[in-house]
Amino acid sequence: MPRPFFLVLSRRWLWAGVILMGSLIVLALYGTFPLAIYTLNALPSEILYDVMLDPGHGGIDPGGIGRDEIYEKEFTLDIVLRMRRILETAGLRVGLTRDTDRDVSHLVKNGTRHRRDLLGRYKLMNQARLGMSIHTNAARSSSERGAIVFFMKNSYIDRIYAQIAFDELERVQEMNHQEIVPRDNLVLLKAKPPVLLIEVGFITNEQDLQKLLDEGFRENVAQALSTAILKFFAWQEGEQSES
Ligand SMILES: [Zn+2]
Repeated sequence: MPRPFFLVLSRRWLWAGVILMGSLIVLALYGTFPLAIYTLNALPSEILYDVMLDPGHGGIDPGGIGRDEIYEKEFTLDIVLRMRRILETAGLRVGLTRDTDRDVSHLVKNGTRHRRDLLGRYKLMNQARLGMSIHTNAARSSSERGAIVFFMKNSYIDRIYAQIAFDELERVQEMNHQEIVPRDNLVLLKAKPPVLLIEVGFITNEQDLQKLLDEGFRENVAQALSTAILKFFAWQEGEQSES
Protein backbone atom coordinates (compact mmCIF):
# COMPACT_ATOMS: atom_id res chain seq x y z
CA MET A 1 0.00 0.00 0.00
CA PRO A 2 1.49 3.39 -0.99
CA ARG A 3 2.31 5.74 1.88
CA PRO A 4 0.49 9.11 2.01
CA PHE A 5 2.63 11.84 0.39
CA PHE A 6 3.33 13.76 3.61
CA LEU A 7 5.11 10.77 5.05
CA VAL A 8 7.24 10.61 1.91
CA LEU A 9 8.35 14.24 2.38
CA SER A 10 11.66 14.31 4.14
CA ARG A 11 12.19 16.41 7.25
CA ARG A 12 14.54 18.63 5.26
CA TRP A 13 11.80 19.56 2.80
CA LEU A 14 9.38 20.29 5.59
CA TRP A 15 11.87 22.74 7.10
CA ALA A 16 12.43 24.34 3.71
CA GLY A 17 8.66 24.88 3.48
CA VAL A 18 8.49 26.38 6.97
CA ILE A 19 11.37 28.76 6.18
CA LEU A 20 9.79 29.77 2.87
CA MET A 21 6.42 30.53 4.52
CA GLY A 22 8.15 32.52 7.25
CA SER A 23 10.09 34.56 4.71
CA LEU A 24 6.91 35.29 2.77
CA ILE A 25 5.16 36.50 5.92
CA VAL A 26 8.10 38.76 6.84
CA LEU A 27 8.25 40.12 3.28
CA ALA A 28 4.51 40.81 3.29
CA LEU A 29 4.80 42.76 6.56
CA TYR A 30 7.78 44.77 5.34
CA GLY A 31 6.06 45.34 2.04
CA THR A 32 3.07 47.08 3.56
CA PHE A 33 4.65 50.51 3.86
CA PRO A 34 6.37 50.68 0.47
CA LEU A 35 3.23 49.43 -1.24
CA ALA A 36 1.11 52.13 0.37
CA ILE A 37 3.75 54.70 -0.60
CA TYR A 38 3.89 53.60 -4.24
CA THR A 39 0.11 53.77 -4.35
CA LEU A 40 0.04 57.27 -2.85
CA ASN A 41 2.78 58.52 -5.19
CA ALA A 42 1.00 57.07 -8.22
CA LEU A 43 -2.14 59.06 -7.45
CA PRO A 44 -2.24 62.49 -9.02
CA SER A 45 -2.28 65.02 -6.19
CA GLU A 46 -3.33 68.60 -6.60
CA ILE A 47 -0.69 71.09 -5.44
CA LEU A 48 -2.48 73.30 -2.95
CA TYR A 49 0.46 74.73 -1.01
CA ASP A 50 3.97 76.05 -1.53
CA VAL A 51 5.12 74.34 1.62
CA MET A 52 3.67 71.71 3.96
CA LEU A 53 4.91 71.94 7.54
CA ASP A 54 4.59 68.90 9.76
CA PRO A 55 4.76 69.28 13.54
CA GLY A 56 5.85 65.81 14.64
CA HIS A 57 3.43 63.67 16.70
CA GLY A 58 0.31 65.09 18.38
CA GLY A 59 -2.84 63.94 20.14
CA ILE A 60 -2.47 60.49 21.68
CA ASP A 61 1.18 60.40 20.49
CA PRO A 62 3.35 62.69 22.67
CA GLY A 63 6.59 61.92 20.80
CA GLY A 64 9.69 62.15 23.00
CA ILE A 65 9.07 62.76 26.67
CA GLY A 66 11.45 64.86 28.72
CA ARG A 67 11.57 65.30 32.48
CA ASP A 68 8.43 66.60 34.23
CA GLU A 69 6.16 65.27 31.44
CA ILE A 70 7.45 67.70 28.83
CA TYR A 71 6.30 66.50 25.43
CA GLU A 72 7.95 66.74 22.02
CA LYS A 73 4.54 67.29 20.35
CA GLU A 74 4.16 70.68 22.07
CA PHE A 75 7.54 72.06 20.95
CA THR A 76 7.04 70.89 17.38
CA LEU A 77 3.61 72.52 17.13
CA ASP A 78 4.83 75.79 18.64
CA ILE A 79 7.77 76.05 16.20
CA VAL A 80 5.59 75.20 13.20
CA LEU A 81 2.92 77.78 14.12
CA ARG A 82 5.70 80.39 14.27
CA MET A 83 6.98 79.24 10.87
CA ARG A 84 3.50 79.51 9.37
CA ARG A 85 3.25 83.14 10.53
CA ILE A 86 6.69 84.01 9.08
CA LEU A 87 6.18 82.22 5.76
CA GLU A 88 2.65 83.52 5.19
CA THR A 89 3.94 87.03 5.79
CA ALA A 90 6.53 86.29 3.09
CA GLY A 91 3.65 85.43 0.74
CA LEU A 92 3.79 81.62 0.69
CA ARG A 93 0.77 79.31 0.75
CA VAL A 94 1.49 77.31 3.90
CA GLY A 95 -0.18 74.01 4.74
CA LEU A 96 0.07 72.27 8.11
CA THR A 97 -0.45 68.57 8.73
CA ARG A 98 -1.95 69.64 12.08
CA ASP A 99 -2.44 72.98 13.81
CA THR A 100 -3.85 71.66 17.06
CA ASP A 101 -2.92 68.89 19.50
CA ARG A 102 -4.08 65.88 17.48
CA ASP A 103 -2.69 63.22 15.17
CA VAL A 104 -3.70 62.81 11.53
CA SER A 105 -4.55 59.10 11.52
CA HIS A 106 -8.13 59.90 10.42
CA LEU A 107 -6.86 60.64 6.89
CA VAL A 108 -6.04 57.00 6.10
CA LYS A 109 -8.44 54.07 6.48
CA ASN A 110 -6.41 50.93 7.10
CA GLY A 111 -3.67 49.86 9.45
CA THR A 112 -2.54 50.67 12.94
CA ARG A 113 -2.96 54.19 14.30
CA HIS A 114 0.77 54.84 13.91
CA ARG A 115 0.79 53.70 10.29
CA ARG A 116 -2.36 55.69 9.44
CA ASP A 117 -0.88 58.78 11.10
CA LEU A 118 2.37 58.52 9.16
CA LEU A 119 0.65 57.90 5.83
CA GLY A 120 -1.78 60.75 6.59
CA ARG A 121 1.16 63.14 6.94
CA TYR A 122 2.68 61.64 3.80
CA LYS A 123 -0.51 62.21 1.82
CA LEU A 124 -0.56 65.88 2.87
CA MET A 125 3.12 66.33 1.89
CA ASN A 126 2.15 65.41 -1.67
CA GLN A 127 -0.15 68.47 -1.80
CA ALA A 128 2.81 70.85 -1.57
CA ARG A 129 5.89 71.86 -3.58
CA LEU A 130 8.10 71.42 -0.55
CA GLY A 131 7.86 69.90 2.91
CA MET A 132 9.47 70.02 6.32
CA SER A 133 8.82 67.80 9.32
CA ILE A 134 9.88 69.19 12.71
CA HIS A 135 10.92 67.00 15.64
CA THR A 136 12.83 67.06 18.88
CA ASN A 137 15.13 64.14 19.56
CA ALA A 138 15.44 61.83 22.56
CA ALA A 139 18.39 59.67 23.56
CA ARG A 140 19.28 57.29 26.36
CA SER A 141 22.42 59.32 26.96
CA SER A 142 21.56 62.72 28.42
CA SER A 143 24.80 64.17 27.02
CA GLU A 144 23.58 63.79 23.42
CA ARG A 145 22.55 67.23 22.17
CA GLY A 146 22.15 69.47 19.13
CA ALA A 147 20.24 69.56 15.87
CA ILE A 148 20.22 67.08 12.95
CA VAL A 149 19.05 67.59 9.36
CA PHE A 150 17.88 64.39 7.64
CA PHE A 151 17.32 64.29 3.89
CA MET A 152 16.44 61.67 1.26
CA LYS A 153 19.53 59.69 0.31
CA ASN A 154 20.68 60.01 -3.33
CA SER A 155 18.46 63.00 -4.09
CA TYR A 156 20.42 65.91 -5.57
CA ILE A 157 17.66 68.48 -4.95
CA ASP A 158 16.96 67.28 -1.40
CA ARG A 159 20.68 67.50 -0.59
CA ILE A 160 20.77 71.15 -1.65
CA TYR A 161 17.63 71.90 0.38
CA ALA A 162 19.18 70.09 3.39
CA GLN A 163 22.45 72.00 3.15
CA ILE A 164 20.61 75.33 3.07
CA ALA A 165 18.61 74.30 6.17
CA PHE A 166 21.77 73.10 7.92
CA ASP A 167 23.57 76.40 7.28
CA GLU A 168 20.65 78.43 8.64
CA LEU A 169 20.06 76.19 11.65
CA GLU A 170 23.74 76.24 12.55
CA ARG A 171 23.46 79.99 13.20
CA VAL A 172 20.97 79.46 16.04
CA GLN A 173 21.62 75.97 17.41
CA GLU A 174 24.55 73.67 18.01
CA MET A 175 24.60 70.76 15.54
CA ASN A 176 24.70 67.12 16.70
CA HIS A 177 26.08 65.89 13.37
CA GLN A 178 28.53 68.21 11.70
CA GLU A 179 26.92 67.60 8.33
CA ILE A 180 23.54 66.79 6.79
CA VAL A 181 22.48 63.15 7.22
CA PRO A 182 21.19 61.07 4.27
CA ARG A 183 18.51 58.47 5.08
CA ASP A 184 16.47 56.10 2.95
CA ASN A 185 14.29 54.58 5.66
CA LEU A 186 12.24 57.60 6.73
CA VAL A 187 8.78 57.38 5.17
CA LEU A 188 8.05 61.13 4.97
CA LEU A 189 11.25 61.80 3.00
CA LYS A 190 9.90 59.59 0.20
CA ALA A 191 7.02 61.95 -0.56
CA LYS A 192 6.87 63.57 -4.02
CA PRO A 193 8.24 67.01 -3.06
CA PRO A 194 11.63 67.48 -1.37
CA VAL A 195 11.02 66.91 2.34
CA LEU A 196 13.43 67.35 5.25
CA LEU A 197 13.14 65.92 8.73
CA ILE A 198 14.64 68.30 11.24
CA GLU A 199 15.53 67.35 14.79
CA VAL A 200 15.93 70.72 16.48
CA GLY A 201 17.50 69.41 19.69
CA PHE A 202 17.39 66.68 22.34
CA ILE A 203 14.53 66.85 24.81
CA THR A 204 16.60 64.47 26.97
CA ASN A 205 19.52 66.92 27.28
CA GLU A 206 19.22 69.62 29.93
CA GLN A 207 20.92 72.34 27.86
CA ASP A 208 18.75 71.66 24.81
CA LEU A 209 15.65 71.40 26.98
CA GLN A 210 16.35 74.80 28.55
CA LYS A 211 16.70 76.24 25.06
CA LEU A 212 13.47 74.61 23.88
CA LEU A 213 11.61 75.98 26.88
CA ASP A 214 12.76 79.47 25.88
CA GLU A 215 10.36 81.24 23.53
CA GLY A 216 13.19 83.31 22.04
CA PHE A 217 15.03 80.15 20.99
CA ARG A 218 11.91 78.63 19.42
CA GLU A 219 11.37 81.87 17.50
CA ASN A 220 15.01 81.84 16.31
CA VAL A 221 14.68 78.24 15.11
CA ALA A 222 11.41 79.10 13.33
CA GLN A 223 13.10 82.10 11.68
CA ALA A 224 16.14 80.06 10.61
CA LEU A 225 14.09 77.23 9.09
CA SER A 226 11.72 79.68 7.38
CA THR A 227 14.70 81.52 5.90
CA ALA A 228 15.98 78.18 4.63
CA ILE A 229 12.68 77.48 2.87
CA LEU A 230 12.68 80.94 1.25
CA LYS A 231 16.32 80.56 0.20
CA PHE A 232 15.61 77.14 -1.32
CA PHE A 233 12.74 78.57 -3.39
CA ALA A 234 14.98 81.44 -4.50
CA TRP A 235 17.68 78.94 -5.55
CA GLN A 236 15.09 76.83 -7.41
CA GLU A 237 13.77 79.87 -9.29
CA GLY A 238 17.33 80.81 -10.25
CA GLU A 239 17.86 77.28 -11.62
CA GLN A 240 14.65 77.42 -13.64
CA SER A 241 15.36 80.81 -15.16
CA GLU A 242 18.80 79.57 -16.26
CA SER A 243 17.47 76.49 -18.04
ZN1 LIG B 1 9.66 62.95 16.76
